[in-house]
Amino acid sequence: MIEGLHWLGHSSFRWDGSKTIYFDPWKLSKEPKKSDIICISHEHFDHFSKLDISKISTADTVIVTCKACADELEPFTRIARKEIKVFQAGISIDLGGVKIKFLSSYNIKKEFHTKSSEKLGFVVTMDGISLYHAGDTDKIPEMDGLKCDVALLPISGTYVMTADEAAEAAIAINPKVAVPMHYGDIVGSMKDAKRFEYLLKGKVEVKILRKEE
Ligand SMILES: [Zn+2]
Repeated sequence: MIEGLHWLGHSSFRWDGSKTIYFDPWKLSKEPKKSDIICISHEHFDHFSKLDISKISTADTVIVTCKACADELEPFTRIARKEIKVFQAGISIDLGGVKIKFLSSYNIKKEFHTKSSEKLGFVVTMDGISLYHAGDTDKIPEMDGLKCDVALLPISGTYVMTADEAAEAAIAINPKVAVPMHYGDIVGSMKDAKRFEYLLKGKVEVKILRKEE
């Protein structure tokens, strides 16, 4: 199901299929694989890295993101403006056979990621598999009944859900596989990932991915 999915640390992933899709690329290796599509959830430095975006961008790369990131990318000379597409929650698009649905991503009782700041989560469907990258979020009502095969959920606490809250989110979403993210850098550790896995035993399959370069 997720052979093509590579965890690059924190909330950074590369998904290889009929297209190469990155989510929140950050701290990439020197010469990473080029991208067809880059999804950037929001403008915080650990999700939105212009250096890493430039490493994986070609003339044909399409960047899909929120307004705050697009505003910062506009003067960024290596990336032509036409390649940056700005979206809000509720919109669905088709990029050459890859479907992307944009969702809100926000905190409920914290101020780090407000709903009004329009940060994004994504449900991307490629080659018949749907994958949800939740961004930096708490458990939000939008997750109830959200349909996806794979759910990438932040688990570190502080700025996002704790492992316990993320387990509740995974139960609400009920994906075929849940993958913990947003740990091992800044906040959160493997302990949180293991707790997430433990809490979902017998309920939702959890895959703790090995960090790749
Ligand atoms: Zn953030």
